[in-house]
Amino acid sequence: MRATIFHAPGRVTVEDRPTPVAGPGEVRLRVAATSLCASDVRVYRGEKYALPGVIPGHEVAGVVDQLGEGVSGIAEGDRVILCPIVACNRCRYCLLGRRNRCVERKTLGYDLDGGFAEHLVVPASLVSSGHVIGIPDALPLDLAAITEPAACTLASLELCEVGAGASMLIMGAGPMGMLHLLLGRALGAGPIIVTEPMAERRAIASRWGADIVLDPAVDDVAGAVKAATGDGADAVIVSVGLGEMVAPALSYVRPQGVVNLFAGFAKGAPAVPFDPNLVHYGEVILTGSQNATTDQYRRTTHLLGQTPHIDEVVTNRYGIEHAPEAYSARLALDGLKSLVQFPGVDRA
Ligand SMILES: [Zn+2]
Ligand SMILES: [Zn+2]
Repeated sequence: MRATIFHAPGRVTVEDRPTPVAGPGEVRLRVAATSLCASDVRVYRGEKYALPGVIPGHEVAGVVDQLGEGVSGIAEGDRVILCPIVACNRCRYCLLGRRNRCVERKTLGYDLDGGFAEHLVVPASLVSSGHVIGIPDALPLDLAAITEPAACTLASLELCEVGAGASMLIMGAGPMGMLHLLLGRALGAGPIIVTEPMAERRAIASRWGADIVLDPAVDDVAGAVKAATGDGADAVIVSVGLGEMVAPALSYVRPQGVVNLFAGFAKGAPAVPFDPNLVHYGEVILTGSQNATTDQYRRTTHLLGQTPHIDEVVTNRYGIEHAPEAYSARLALDGLKSLVQFPGVDRA
């Protein structure tokens, strides 16, 4: 099969690999589409670890095409997505149902082969713990590929209690900021305010339903947030991994509101100062969120089909031979999300 291989930061190639076979307890997917994550780009930049020689890609949708011995509850031909976290199922977090926080977790696409290849064998522990998730008939596989980032977004919104009528400030309208906008809208949040330095992205955020869109270099963000919300946003989402955004984020949230550092920050980035009294006297919750529970993945597959504009988040599409270009497009901030598509799969 043809597969994308991560060798080292800055070096990703497309090569032949033996087509894997499903062993006991495993299932094999014919991959339909895999989208490229900001964290894949961080690996490419050398800011995050991945095993040299691994097939990247954890945002996968496909069709089950082979069942290993002893697999039940899954059939050949099933249209599925994956929750790509291999968890121990024994630690405190696993027992709480938070397998995304497992202390021994491994992730497809970083530690184990992922979805930028024609086939992917799903490890037995993922199969047995329900991480192979069937999708609604109406959800196209190409769209289903972005379930993972959308589930991470749903987890973020639920952590921040963003539901109907909640005000939200999204700092950074990259792919993940845009997912917060679209899913927040679908859940009834508002007003939604977006800050973004790129004019092109500001225009998209307006078109996709942001109530107020600001250029942080020019506009009075604090004034606009106060005018729109009274005492600050219920939730502030920091969707860009820049430490200097933490202090302003704390000044835009209302007392007892939530600031979620949703983006990952480069390892070894310098510590950042902020006013601790904003947290103390404001009783503000400063948190982060990372990945999502299996149940959030399942619910996201239903939410995606009811989210206007969600299919427009994927702006760049490539065949497997051009998969490295998916990385260059992200590095150049060209469009929003890159998708590698595999022909020959029934994409209904
Ligand atoms: Zn991802
Ligand atoms: Zn665990």
